[in-house]
Amino acid sequence: MKKTKMICTLGPASSNYETIAKLLRAGMNVARLNMSHGDISHHQKTLDLVLKARKELNIPCAIMVDTCGPEIRIGEFEDGKVLLNKGDLFTFCTDHTIGTDKYVSCPYPELTNILKPKQKIYANNGLLEFTVRKVENGNIVCVVNIGGELSNHKSISIPHTRLPLPFISKKDEENIRFAVKNDVEYISASFVNTPENVVEMQQLISSLGGRQQIISKIESVEGIKNLDKIIEVSDGIMVARGDMGTEVPIEHIPAIQKMMIEKCIKNGKKVIVATEMLESMTHRRRPTRAETTDVAQAIYDKTGATMLSGETASGLFPVESATTMSKIALATEKQVDYDKEFEAECGKTPLDTIAHSACDTAKSVHAKAIVCWTDRGKTACAISKFRPQANIVALTHDEWTKNSLALCWGIIPLVVEQQQSLDDLIAYASKVVIEQKLAKKGDKIVITFGVPNSNSTPTNSINICVVQ
Ligand code: PGA
Ligand code: MN
Repeated sequence: MKKTKMICTLGPASSNYETIAKLLRAGMNVARLNMSHGDISHHQKTLDLVLKARKELNIPCAIMVDTCGPEIRIGEFEDGKVLLNKGDLFTFCTDHTIGTDKYVSCPYPELTNILKPKQKIYANNGLLEFTVRKVENGNIVCVVNIGGELSNHKSISIPHTRLPLPFISKKDEENIRFAVKNDVEYISASFVNTPENVVEMQQLISSLGGRQQIISKIESVEGIKNLDKIIEVSDGIMVARGDMGTEVPIEHIPAIQKMMIEKCIKNGKKVIVATEMLESMTHRRRPTRAETTDVAQAIYDKTGATMLSGETASGLFPVESATTMSKIALATEKQVDYDKEFEAECGKTPLDTIAHSACDTAKSVHAKAIVCWTDRGKTACAISKFRPQANIVALTHDEWTKNSLALCWGIIPLVVEQQQSLDDLIAYASKVVIEQKLAKKGDKIVITFGVPNSNSTPTNSINICVVQ
């Protein structure tokens, strides 16, 4: 089983039971619902299919609701899309007219106050570029610099401009209610610029009675500037290279990605590398060599997860894309000697110390697995932070925790019955690693648990056990 987790975005190409089941078998660990597309009733249907499939196949899988964030989207075209050519005049109208190849609605009147002649506007993650020529009567008249296809509801970005929009729009509030109502494991928050954005979302989730973990999507210069503080308050970070690539010179993205992965690992936070990882597979059965290497590079850097977007949501080959990504992960992980790269430095908290010791012990005795009895998954995540060679098996009694751990690097989460005695904990761990084909009789495993054995005891003990 691969250690690096895979997020698959579900959309028209994959919102059916058969494809979801195939994606799970191909190694999908998290199903992402991108709320920027489709309506809530549609997402509800997809979500119900994921619940059904993960239960029937007995494969842990988290669900991630991705908010729209403060973004600007265009309206609709007569024919769904238009082709724009370099040099064309094209107008963004702030009313609600239906679009043609001359104009499209972009119903944010505030834009007319912000935009000035010569400013750039991007669409399709920067594939289309416009320059503002004039702003008059609620119309933003532009020249097309780089043409291409523009379709319904595409988002547009205006680099280096803080849009006068609330961080949580009415639509996002509805989407967060949807996430809470369905008790999903993760909310990925689009366009997080400040730690206050994350706190605001956390407060909304709590006020609704939710327990979702927040993955902050970093996709702006401001977000990168405030990264350290955002990491501190978030459960994880997404390197959102799509929108980031319109704000930051593209040649800086690789270094930013590397830096973000490193900081998240150091702080024990989840980290996801996203966007265009296998982009060409939206139309073709095989990825480019460059894409293959891109996925592998993120894995060499020990990212917690990689993500597929259009490849699985709207592409022609959703299952092939997921299978390809899994294969790249497996092959690349084989090349990494995790124990050799294991950091001697351990964390500061008691939990960090014990997690580090468990990994160190596993390394010393060449353990085949680290089995941890975990209540809410904290110990398992702390162990995952050190990226050990041994598989991490997280045993919990809680279904929600199991699925949430599906996103954590190297963790195989399982729901098990509470055990009474210490002997039972150890015997059970032995049984599980054999069942999971992670070890055979005579192999060593490392087990972590809390003594006295109850849900509320934090992990305080490490045991080396020979599998019986
Ligand atoms: P998106 O976010 O796919 O929701 O736009 C990811 C990105 O911008 O890279
Ligand atoms: Mn984005």
